[in-house]
Formats: sequence, structure tokens, C-alpha cells
Amino acid sequence: MTAPITLMPTYARQPVAFVRGEGIWLYDSDGKRYLDTTAGIAVCGLGHAHPGVAKAIAEQASTLVHTSNLYRVPLQEQLAERLCAVSGMSRAFFGNSGAEANEAAIKLARLHGYSKGIETPTIIVMENSFHGRTMATLTATGNAKIQEGFGPLVQGFERVPFDDLEAIKAVAARNPNIVAILVEPIQGESGVRTAKAGFGYLKSLRELCDQHDWLLMIDEIQTGNGRTGRYFAYQHAGILPDVLSTAKGLGNGFPIGATLVSGRATELFSPGKHGTTYGGTPLGCAAALATMDGLLDGVVANAEVMGQRIRDGFTRELGDLGVYVEGAGLMLGVVLPKPCTELVALAREAGVLLIVSAENRIRLLPPLILTAAESDELVSRISALARAFLAPSHEARA
Ligand SMILES: *Cc1c(COP(=O)(O)O)cnc(C)c1O
Repeated sequence: MTAPITLMPTYARQPVAFVRGEGIWLYDSDGKRYLDTTAGIAVCGLGHAHPGVAKAIAEQASTLVHTSNLYRVPLQEQLAERLCAVSGMSRAFFGNSGAEANEAAIKLARLHGYSKGIETPTIIVMENSFHGRTMATLTATGNAKIQEGFGPLVQGFERVPFDDLEAIKAVAARNPNIVAILVEPIQGESGVRTAKAGFGYLKSLRELCDQHDWLLMIDEIQTGNGRTGRYFAYQHAGILPDVLSTAKGLGNGFPIGATLVSGRATELFSPGKHGTTYGGTPLGCAAALATMDGLLDGVVANAEVMGQRIRDGFTRELGDLGVYVEGAGLMLGVVLPKPCTELVALAREAGVLLIVSAENRIRLLPPLILTAAESDELVSRISALARAFLAPSHEARA
């Protein structure tokens, strides 16, 4: 299967295409079934072709798709209310993607700075982070490969190592222009990296932000919407951010993102300060409301239980080979003792879809609805593949 030359080659695509999905399963045109541990990259938390979401989209599409933000959008108001209720945040702005949600966050940080007379507001960002592909969000991203070729980058960011409070204190001591910290609760794109203190790290960041009147801006584009076993990951830490960005899992595949504010960030946007044509359409909000209905009907709790089951499973099956698991809920990094990018193709041939990040980390992001039997199947199939891959005989063949 050769790639069509009329698509810009921004992705090195795998030679497979799917025609249908159901729950945690995807089917190709030959009817071959694949266990999907990627969920469209942490998007389809309710699984593929979820009946409730499908019905909501179909009914809304034949009622009213779009009107614009010149008018009130009742479904947008309902979704804002629902998200604020579940998150503890105060207000929402809707866009169409994660990068847009972070762009709004970055604009809010700058407004916060200007409100205090800071004319070169600067945001602390982390090494190995990922925040998107627009100019500001790729600047915020801690990955040189993503930035290469796109300079000059956007001004107003200072980078520190993830999970290093002392580095932040050092920046605070020398740079009076800091206005915010932008951080992922668990770093996703770099392979599911957690802080040593787990979610306690967020609590420490909250204290630092309070101390310095900075905005704590949490990027929950990947960790949100139940992925880690709470609706939002910061809820494990018992804190509230000032700015929260989310997207991926919010629409179960329908493109929608949101930026939520509370506390010192609540009043920063006023009419004319931000906008979007498509953000928060009746159709997108209907999809997100149906997704939230599904997630809040026991699915978030299921993510916690199945996550633990899968962790225990890998520890039991592969612990003797030096394999360990990082992450929370159903956002898990299975760390192998050697680079394992080859596993992606081996697994696909065996009917399992995997993501490998940071060379030696299998990043598991399965639908949050998976059952105990499906969790066990996931563990046993991936363990068998990993065990064969790690066996000395594989090395000899390679
Ligand atoms: C995916 C992701 C983004 C970017 O979202 P897009 O919808 O691709 O723009 C930003 N931050 C994190 C943590 C992500 O995982």
C-alpha cells in the first residue's frame, strides 16, 4: 500500500486503514480485527462508534449544526455548566482542538501579566512537554524536533526540567516577568512520564503559583475526560488550576476543545479579546454532552479499576524482564529495557494497535470502557509480544 502523493507527508503512516470500529476494536477492509490500545490517541474514551454519541450527533446534525457565537448557543451553555460542575472551574471557552485550547491559555497568561503591569509576560514550561503544533504551542513544547525549522519562535517562555521545583524557584528569583506555569499532570507525548511525587507535584506547583501570583495552567488535553481515573487528573491532587485546557477525550472523536478558568483567571477575557468561528457549535456541544453522559456513567471509575488491573498484569507477566509501568488510570507507559519501536509493526500484524513513545515506552491509551476480560486479553497479548521481542533469540535474528 503506497501513500498517495497528494497528501502532505507530515505523517509516516502505517500501511493499514480501518473501515469500522466497535468499542475497543477496529476492523480493516479485509475484516481483520485489531485490539486498539490507542483510542485515536486518547480520544475515543467511550470506544469506537459509541451508540449514545452517534445518536446525539445524528439527531443534532438533522436539527441544527451551526449558528455562530454572535448568538446564544444553549447547548454550549449546558456544556459549560456541565464541565464547570465536574471540574470545579468557573467559566469555559470552546474551540476545536487541543492546540487552540492552549493558545487561549497562553493569551490568558499574557493578560494576567498586563493586568499587573508586566509588559513582557513569561510562562514557565517544561522539558519533554507537548502542547501542540501552532507557533505558540510548539514554542511551549519541550521537544527540539518539533521546533526545528520554524524559528523565530514565540517569545515569552522559560523552560525548566519537569518535576524540578528548585529550577522553578531559581527562575522566580531571577525573572520578575513570570506570570504562569503551563504543565501536563502526566507528560503524554514523551512516553507517559510522571513526577516522583505523583500528583503531589501539582500541589507544589499550586503553592508556588499562589506565592507568586502566577496562573497555574494545567494542560489536560490528554489526561482529561477520565483518562487517569478522575474526570481531570488534578483532582487526584485536591487542587484547582487557574486555567485548564482540554480536548482529545471531550468529544469522543468529534473535534472540540475547551479552556476553563477559575480564581484569578476568571475575569481576564472580555468581549473582543478572543474568538472562533466554529468553537462550541450546537453539533460539537451535543457530541461532548453525550460523551460526558457516557463518561460519568461509571466509565471514569472503570478507568481507575482497569488501569490497576492492567498494571498488576504487566508486573506479573513481565516484571522478571525488568519491565515496569508508569502512569495512572488508563494512561500507562510500559517501559521496556531496550528500544522497542519495532514492536508497533509486530503487534499490528498480530492484531494489536500500539503506540511506542520515547523509543522504549509502549504508551497505552485504550478506550476507558474496556472490560476485565478485555484488559486481561490486552495484557496477555502484549506480554507475549514483548516477551518474544525481549528474548535473546530475537536479538540474534535481528
Ligand atoms: C494532543 C495534545 C495537544 C494538542 O492537541 P491537538 O488537538 O492535536 O491540537 C496538546 N497538549 C497535549 C498534552 C496533548 O496530548
